[in-house]
Amino acid sequence: MSRYTGAVCRQCRREGLKLFLKGDRCYSDKCSIERRSYPPGQHGQARVRKISDYAIQLREKQKVRRIYGMLEGQFERYFEKAEQARGITGENLLSQLERRLDNTIFRLGFASSRSQARQLVRHNHVLVNDRKVNIPSFLTSVGDQITIREKSRGAETINDSLEAVARRGVPSWLELDAANYKGTVKALPVREELTMPIQENLIVELYSK
Ligand code: SF4
Repeated sequence: MSRYTGAVCRQCRREGLKLFLKGDRCYSDKCSIERRSYPPGQHGQARVRKISDYAIQLREKQKVRRIYGMLEGQFERYFEKAEQARGITGENLLSQLERRLDNTIFRLGFASSRSQARQLVRHNHVLVNDRKVNIPSFLTSVGDQITIREKSRGAETINDSLEAVARRGVPSWLELDAANYKGTVKALPVREELTMPIQENLIVELYSK
């Protein structure tokens, strides 16, 4: 599965806010957006022109796509599924993105960023209901038990991340048993718990054109 391989912090500077793509670095004074809070590129510091409604919608879509580390085509497919499902399309979209296995691992605190979580999954460190799953886009369901494989439990990155999540907490739709490296999906993700400033209605408007 292909993924974005360019400069990561550039994406936050492009969107004008922290997308928390690099784990611990995002919480330190090494964060690029703290040092250079203007868009990347030659014209990054040029005077800001009035932006159109289309540009605002496009930026919102790009922001969410980047938060979850997805390429254009993959993101569009998530939108199509969200449109076909019952309920509010924007909320369906966010719920599906949250339920991805890499995001669930990140939310449980086994990884400090979604890209690190994706790597844990790809490298076979994760079990879902005691079976090895190495597909980051796997959608978790209510009742699923997600564990870190026994052999992988000594990994420093996992244990450091678990220490950090003890301070941050996990969302209410998940339950973490850190001592046993186990997480349970208790419910479907709750929109109100997404603390990033996302206006999913703008994405729906963009794709409805
Ligand atoms: Fe974004 Fe993190 Fe880079 Fe800061 S350190 S610019 S939040 S990816």
